[in-house]
Amino acid sequence: MENNIQKLSRKDIIFLKAYQSARSIGGIGHTLLNANELPMSSLYNLTNITLNRYPECQPKKLIFHYSAYVNLALENILVSRGSDEAIELLMRVFCLPNKDSIITFSPTYTMYAKIAEIYGIKNIIIPMINNMILDIPKIIKLLHGVKLIYICRPNNPTGHIFNIDSIIQILKITIGKAIVIIDEAYIEFCMSENTIFLLKSFSHLVILRTLSKAFGLAGLRCGFTLAHKDIIKLLRKVITPYPLPIPSINIAIQALLPSAIVSMQNKVLEIQKNKKFLLKNLKKNDLVKYIFHSETNYILVKFYNAKNIFDILWNQGIILRQQNHESNLRDCIRISVGTKTECLCLISALKSISLN
Ligand SMILES: *Cc1c(COP(=O)(O)O)cnc(C)c1O
Repeated sequence: MENNIQKLSRKDIIFLKAYQSARSIGGIGHTLLNANELPMSSLYNLTNITLNRYPECQPKKLIFHYSAYVNLALENILVSRGSDEAIELLMRVFCLPNKDSIITFSPTYTMYAKIAEIYGIKNIIIPMINNMILDIPKIIKLLHGVKLIYICRPNNPTGHIFNIDSIIQILKITIGKAIVIIDEAYIEFCMSENTIFLLKSFSHLVILRTLSKAFGLAGLRCGFTLAHKDIIKLLRKVITPYPLPIPSINIAIQALLPSAIVSMQNKVLEIQKNKKFLLKNLKKNDLVKYIFHSETNYILVKFYNAKNIFDILWNQGIILRQQNHESNLRDCIRISVGTKTECLCLISALKSISLN
């Protein structure tokens, strides 16, 4: 790097390791099971749009359709460029760099930590008990100076869901102290577990949603924040003026029509069927050491020699997601549930590795 650029840049950014997304890690193949995307796609057409004008910041029609889907008032909803943008907006509104902190739990979605790092916000990481349970005594102990608590539910990468009683307990101990964010990116795969009913009782609860997973629209970049109107108002102050492109708004509206929602729900059922089939076969494979319980469209699997298996599959064009950045998840690989064909392809590849 040019010397003067290095001199001008924030030192921590020079040493920052960029977020490793499934797309940036890459991998070439026919069976992409590394990003928890929906493996099947619906075809959308843009309906007569013009693009010479800027879009609305918070498109009324889109918010209206999402409000019908979640049964909340318009004032309780913010739309953003994916839920990743909402994760960041919350830090912008609530955290002063080098002063305030957030709490995250490990292992979890690493974007919370990465965005905090970029903003210079301290991230207090509380390890889950047995990779499963939220350590509430630790939260109570470390709560001082904490503004935001990010809980991924169902959790990525484990796939399990934290007990609702533990969530309610956390909401009770944080009243007047911190905002609790529940990231429900995968909630459509276990809809009865959603926490919208808690918004009525807890004004410091924020729920994050996305069209990237069950709706099969990762390429659209559309996410929603559900919260008390006072929180939504603050987020609207700091969001960019035109977060969503007009084509994205147009298609998001189509994806939220009642018939499209039924079609999403049918795809969820199909994924759940494929997951059962994949699980049954993984259990039979002697390379597999342990399978985490999953409520989602992905399964976290502990193998006997994960690195080796990952590499062999990678070279065959079957791309999975390693978890070696998490010290508690050594030898674990996250597998997104694909189509039946993709599941079969993975199963037969694993079978032939175990026979060698
Ligand atoms: C995929 C994912 C997201 C990202 O959602 P976008 O709306 O695509 O930005 C957010 N949270 C979790 C836990 C995810 O796995």
